Amino acid sequence: MKAHDGMYIDGAWRPAASGETIGVVNPVDEQVIDRVPAGTAADIDTAVRAARAALPGWAATSPAERAARLGALRDVLAARKDEIAETVTAELGSPLAFSQAVHASVPIAVAGSYAELAATHAFEEKVGNSTVYQEPIGVVGAITPWNYPLHQIVAKVAPALAAGCTVVLKPAEDTPLTAQLFAEAVDEAGIPAGVFNLVTGLGPVAGQALAEHPGVDLVSFTGSTAVGRQIGATAGAAIKKVALELGGKSANVILPSADLAKAVNVGVANVMSNSGQTCSAWTRMLVHRDQYDEAVQLAATAAAKYGDRIGPVVNAKQRARVRSYIEKGVEEGARLVAGGPEHPSPQGYFIAPTVFADVTPDMTIAQEEIFGPVLSVLRYDDEDDAARIANGTVYGLAGAVWAGDEAEAVAFARRLETGQVDINGGRFNPRAPFGGYKQSGVGRELGAHGLSEYLQTKSLQF
Ligand code: NAD
Repeated sequence: MKAHDGMYIDGAWRPAASGETIGVVNPVDEQVIDRVPAGTAADIDTAVRAARAALPGWAATSPAERAARLGALRDVLAARKDEIAETVTAELGSPLAFSQAVHASVPIAVAGSYAELAATHAFEEKVGNSTVYQEPIGVVGAITPWNYPLHQIVAKVAPALAAGCTVVLKPAEDTPLTAQLFAEAVDEAGIPAGVFNLVTGLGPVAGQALAEHPGVDLVSFTGSTAVGRQIGATAGAAIKKVALELGGKSANVILPSADLAKAVNVGVANVMSNSGQTCSAWTRMLVHRDQYDEAVQLAATAAAKYGDRIGPVVNAKQRARVRSYIEKGVEEGARLVAGGPEHPSPQGYFIAPTVFADVTPDMTIAQEEIFGPVLSVLRYDDEDDAARIANGTVYGLAGAVWAGDEAEAVAFARRLETGQVDINGGRFNPRAPFGGYKQSGVGRELGAHGLSEYLQTKSLQF
């Protein structure tokens, strides 16, 4: 188990300046399992100063040295994989098998990809009579959500370190134990003091102090669109670069030539995994009117199979929010074919896997992000109609297209206003750029595109 309960600043573990702590709750049984420091502006200031002091040294290291440290970090995460999975399960409530297969494994792959990219990226290029250098942007303030606790951290910290930046991380208050484990891994990997710093605490206190700190050069935020908008406005006023990964309401478009049963089953699994707490989940399934009734039947059967196999949502507030969306769906005339608003269990923040049929594009449940195990099935008349419905929200994070012929699916995917599309159930690629069109965000994470967010360019003319 993790050995430290403090914040990790300048290579040392310490309590919050205020001495206050925050309880961490297991969403399965609602019991407090641990406490972490409640950092405030004073702790953020100490951490930002440490990151700034460490910046010149780390920025001057060779890409090969940074690659070696990131490779060591990857190895420590791999060695502590079981512990990571258990910790995520304890504070997020996800079933252990999912924590092992996704929450622990994906960040190891992403850390490994940045160890390779740090070694191979062209940080310098010739353009005619110029030499163009890609230099670290400076001190990064990283603010992460709870839904994929370690992935969200690694997707920011690994490219930032590969670029030569130093970091202050403020993780979500619901899942700080995974962040403490990550800080132990950073320490074990021999990354120098001050290069990575962890401040646990509440969003409107520690998070806001980090987003507003004048010593931070780039704020990289993943979370809700409401907070992202505020962080973007603060950064704009300070003429600071910002990276925002926000909400989504992605469409899963099943074209008439597709394998309907496969498309529906994979679509339901996509929405139910992680109890629907995935920003890129395909929460709107779009089916041609001739296949609609069959698809609804298949989706209801598939959702019922998930019954007690999905974990709870993260906290009581989130459960109340998801329930109120389900009630709203019923009120607005959508037809419940699986699940519903009732609590499926007397203890824990559980929501039954829920499927709505007869959802129209203007309904609240078709427009707003629910962030729970709730799928809406919509009907379309033809491809133009499907494209209009798919593109008819303020979001544009991800999506899926299914067709009998790959070229047909690709042609339709090119019409979608969204940052990432899976073709016929395409596999996750840790190097593919991830991020949003429209109000789903600004910037990209993962792979070379994710690395470039943390770099700025300088050109020298000869
Ligand atoms: P949230 O915005 O409330 O919190 C995210 C992080 O921001 C947390 O660390 C929180 O403490 C911090 N925070 C909260 N208020 C803050 C403030 N005023 N200033 C600075 N920081 C603050 O979001 P959430 O409810 O924890 O997460 C769910 C949302 O995140 C969903 O809308 C989801 O779509 C989005 N999300 C997006 C992605 C993506 O990659 N696009 C990934 C995961 C989650």
